[in-house]
Amino acid sequence: MKIEEAQDMMRRIYLERDQARGIEGTLKRTFDELEELSEAIKSKDTAQAIADEVADIFAWLCSLANLLEIDVSDAFYKKYSDVCSKCRESPCACPEFPDMK
Ligand SMILES: [Zn+2]
Repeated sequence: MKIEEAQDMMRRIYLERDQARGIEGTLKRTFDELEELSEAIKSKDTAQAIADEVADIFAWLCSLANLLEIDVSDAFYKKYSDVCSKCRESPCACPEFPDMK
């Protein structure tokens, strides 16, 4: 499935509910899903359970983008377009940051 297909699917299924919840509420749910992914990884949950959390985050991100009228596929490709968003190289040639060690 392509990114735009996934975003359209989320729009079809959830747009009304997302609009009722609003941007702030949807942003909070996206953060909640990130926390759930963190807990799944830390507790060494099954690979499927961790994959489910990744899917949830992407789903909520699509919902948020729908409310903000952002095309996720377009935004992603404009920002990354086959290269690192900072150094514009592939693979990334950025100097290593202290938090990466
Ligand atoms: Zn880079």
